[in-house]
Amino acid sequence: NQPDQYVVIGNPIAHSKSPRIHARFAAETAQRLNYSTLLAPLDGFVATAEAFRAAGGRGANVTVPFKLEAFAYSTRLTARAQAAGAVNTLMFDGADIIGDNTDGLGLVNDIVRNAGIPLQAKRILLLGAGGAARGALLPLLEQQPAQLIIANRTLSKAQQLAQAARAEFPDLVVAACTFETVPADCAFDVIINATSASLQDAVPPLPDYVWQARPLAYDMMYGATPTAFLQVAAQHAAQCRDGLGMLVEQAAAAYALWRGVQPATGPVLHELRMEMQAAEGR
Ligand code: NDP
Repeated sequence: NQPDQYVVIGNPIAHSKSPRIHARFAAETAQRLNYSTLLAPLDGFVATAEAFRAAGGRGANVTVPFKLEAFAYSTRLTARAQAAGAVNTLMFDGADIIGDNTDGLGLVNDIVRNAGIPLQAKRILLLGAGGAARGALLPLLEQQPAQLIIANRTLSKAQQLAQAARAEFPDLVVAACTFETVPADCAFDVIINATSASLQDAVPPLPDYVWQARPLAYDMMYGATPTAFLQVAAQHAAQCRDGLGMLVEQAAAAYALWRGVQPATGPVLHELRMEMQAAEGR
């Protein structure tokens, strides 16, 4: 009998690291499966996913720009997917299309387990109010931080997220502001960049005092060289971490959902980091 089939659907998709990550997980947990990339036309996500499902596909990861379409395509949603308003993981189970979102859990697992920084009772500054920030919100609040401030260029979007968060967690302190108006008295333990500013080599215009308590600076973006945000953070003596661990951890959470086993993430994370640095040096 054939191994179970999984894919990551996106556009573009050729450079995805997910097939490598899942092949390592499969080897490590001794599971027989195939995981490959699947390019969907920009107007053809559902047709592509349906053809894969009809051919016996068991599950799929979904990446840019299809996470909202995957949300609409799902017949059942996990609480995480519902809160995120987007789906990055699909599981095909008979007639059911189960949609989950493991991005936020990946972020939290990378900070708490891999970096060894508990978030309980911590003061968190979350930068951005787009899809990545929204996906991170519920998993962050589940850690029971002392305070979570959402700062965004467009204030109304941060306010909407903060309002939804307060409705879900009325006991926690959640507030919204712009980058320039982050409160001065917060002594942040963790600052998470969930904006796409790093893609444009830009840095959200934060006041210097946000760095006072030497927080962990986490950029969801990753690459061989530190992002502009992490360069600024390093100038302020912050501890720096990029989003490569988040990528590996969101994959591990998807793998656990599909296969019922939790793979080790340390070896593949180390391997990807070495490879990225070697490619940069060439
Ligand atoms: P969205 O387009 O949904 O949101 C973009 C956000 O960035 C908005 O809050 C926007 O503000 C803000 N923004 C954009 N440009 C600037 C700028 N120049 N200065 C300040 N703020 C800016 O993007 P996503 O949320 O989907 O993605 C955000 C980042 O997270 C990306 O870099 C992506 O690569 C990364 N990511 C990483 C993952 C991982 O596994 N490591 C997983 C998912 C995402 P406004 O509302 O005002 O427009």
